[in-house]
Formats: sequence, C-alpha cells, structure tokens
Amino acid sequence: MYTIKTTNKSIKTDKLIKKYYDREKIENYCKQCENYNKIWSCPPYGFNTEKYVREFENIHIIGTQIIFDKTTIEEVNTKEKIKKFSIETILKERKKIFDKLIILESKFPGSKAINAGNCSICKKCTRINNKKCINENLIRYSLESLGFDVGKITSEVLGIDLKWSSDTLPEYLTMASGFLTNYNIDYI
Ligand code: SF4
Repeated sequence: MYTIKTTNKSIKTDKLIKKYYDREKIENYCKQCENYNKIWSCPPYGFNTEKYVREFENIHIIGTQIIFDKTTIEEVNTKEKIKKFSIETILKERKKIFDKLIILESKFPGSKAINAGNCSICKKCTRINNKKCINENLIRYSLESLGFDVGKITSEVLGIDLKWSSDTLPEYLTMASGFLTNYNIDYI
C-alpha cells in the first residue's frame, strides 16, 4: 500500500526563525482554511509564536514521506477516493508520530513536540463553542500554525519537495513535524 520514509535534521531555532518565519504572511494563508479560529491549535493565537519557539535553542525537523506503491496509485483513482484515502492515511500516520514525540518529551523534560498539522484529538474542537480546550496539556502546534513556511523548510532543510495532485495520488505525501528542545540530541 505505502511505505514510510523519515528524514530528520536538527537546526538552531534562531536560524529557522531568520530564514522561514513570517507570521503575517503565513497567517493570511491560514485565514483561507476552514479550521481558522475553530481549533485551539490553529491561529489566531493569543501569544507571540516567535517567543514560544525562541524558548528553545534547537529544533529537530522531521519529514515523513508516505510513499504510495503503484497498485495503490492505480486503485485510488477518483477525486473522492483520493481525498478520503489521503486524509485517513495522514491522520493515522500523524497520530503515530505525535504519540512518539509525546513520549520523547518525557525523556527530555521541557521539550515540546511540533505536530504535523492541527490537533485532532477531539472529534469537534471546543473552540467552535468558545469553550476551553479539554486537553490543554496535549495541545501541540504545527510549524505552519506558528508562522513558518513549511514548503520552504521541507525543501531547503530536508531536501524534500512537496508533491500535489488532484487527479491521481501523488508519488508521495509529506508531513512535517518537529521537536523543540534545549538538549543536544543527535537524532530522533
Ligand atoms: S484537545 Fe480537543 S479541545 Fe483541545 S485543541 Fe485539540 S481538538 Fe481542540
């Protein structure tokens, strides 16, 4: 069906901010998303996202490629099938990464996981009804929601070009997650 390829790179958060942070520009993209202002792990935020990231010296960027085999690309062959299969696969793989990163946080106290997308712990986020998050200790933000250009990061830091396709499954889908830490960790 598919294989997973992971690529990691550790860089200083200062460098990441200088090269890839543009909160205003990225938030304008977020405003066009149906999740804007509807999920607590999505903008608008009531805190300074640059300051949040600067609390940490290092970030491990993790690129996860979901590489589809030929048969799957042939069989998942309508727009509806492609959408459903892509969403289900991404959610399944994203949860696996998220669970691993949360365990890693306990090994490196004070570190924070970066989620590969919005929080999807609850079926419907409480933000829709303007109620507090029911799992505040588990909210983790994505790079894009914090104001980073993820396309550029995956391409320039990890060497992975994002692939898009609506009529067929692309060769692969890419998720970008990460780990903010003040520890010097060689690999994740
Ligand atoms: S844990 Fe639930 S309430 Fe909190 S941000 Fe995630 S989806 Fe929303």
